[in-house]
Amino acid sequence: MSPLNYPRVEKLFTPGPVNIPERVYLASMLGSYHHRTKEFSAILVDALELLKPLFGTQGHVYPVHTTGRGALEGVYKNIFTAEDRVVCVVNGKFGEMAAITLRSIGIPVKECFPQWSSEVDLQVLEQEIVDFNATGLVAVFNDTSNGVINPMAGMGALAAKHNLLFAVDNVSGLGCMPFEMDAWNVDAVVTASQKGLMSPAGVSFVALSQRAMAACEANDHRDFYIDFVDIHTIVTEKGETPGSTPVSLILSVHEALTMIHDEGVSSVFLRHKAISLGTKAALQALGFSLFPRECAARSDSLSVASMPQALSAKTLASRMSHGYRLRIGVGLGSAMADNTVRIAHMGYCYPEDMLQCFAVMECVLEDMGLVGSMGKGIAAFDRVYRQTISEGL
Ligand SMILES: *Cc1c(COP(=O)(O)O)cnc(C)c1O
Repeated sequence: MSPLNYPRVEKLFTPGPVNIPERVYLASMLGSYHHRTKEFSAILVDALELLKPLFGTQGHVYPVHTTGRGALEGVYKNIFTAEDRVVCVVNGKFGEMAAITLRSIGIPVKECFPQWSSEVDLQVLEQEIVDFNATGLVAVFNDTSNGVINPMAGMGALAAKHNLLFAVDNVSGLGCMPFEMDAWNVDAVVTASQKGLMSPAGVSFVALSQRAMAACEANDHRDFYIDFVDIHTIVTEKGETPGSTPVSLILSVHEALTMIHDEGVSSVFLRHKAISLGTKAALQALGFSLFPRECAARSDSLSVASMPQALSAKTLASRMSHGYRLRIGVGLGSAMADNTVRIAHMGYCYPEDMLQCFAVMECVLEDMGLVGSMGKGIAAFDRVYRQTISEGL
């Protein structure tokens, strides 16, 4: 067998799932707790506490036994009813998914900012809210399809002004970038285990404001499986969850949260920012064009860019995977897949990982005909990464 295709483990630069630290794997295997024991409850309750600063809340954080999409659907089914009217920001694939989910469960939706990666203009948004006579607002914080960051604080202020319930998909940003749920007036925030939380997929976490919980209580048609009134009672009274808890996943997430707090939450955010700016500088040095094109805020948890000289993103990704066992993401959706790369740097990602990614990418790009690539990406990464770290947050 050629050493090129010996089946060794791939290193991931995909925007979910992400690399799982060895400590996190081991933690999931070292305890075989029954889920209704005080030993396991202590770990679960501690994990929920450790999540609060990442959500930016003093309120409650709840576990939900599904991946992110299930938890998002569960939130919409709990806090909204068919009498609500929800404005949904759809400037990326995950925003579109939110609108589709809302509509599929019978909630009236008005999509706004349908242009791919367009920036949210708060005045336009306010007009949409007024015209639609909205009662709810839904948006993605960090759209993993195009790297758009939506302006949470401004949107939260509009939600407060117009008395809307504001629900946010923060699946791919939590633990990577600061999020201030309470200060920004967000009512419901969802994240999942397999992105910034560096764990296997399968469990999600939801933070709800008191207003959101009151809406759940007033709703007679809450989801059966994801019933936040039920979850709230069992979590707060017993430190347990309804039904069987995915114990191994909670152990993983607890270990990952311990790592995040050991490093320091603000250090983790600074690391993501420095790696992100370094990655974006490296991509530009290699001739890629960054997404979103004109946006005040770009994601720190992934970088999205179109290929230099109309080269194929699929070829680049497949050669990096087959030859070197590094997996990057390509564009989401058929129109984007072959001209766009999505390089994740969320969670367990350090500068040496990105230097490896760019060293390999340069070899492949050279091979694909982009003459003179060698060394340009890593030089740009190293310069901007170190500069950002020295400047601090
Ligand atoms: C990954 C992702 C999801 C989907 O979560 P699953 O856990 O795959 O169900 C939802 N929203 C965003 C922004 C994501 O990045």
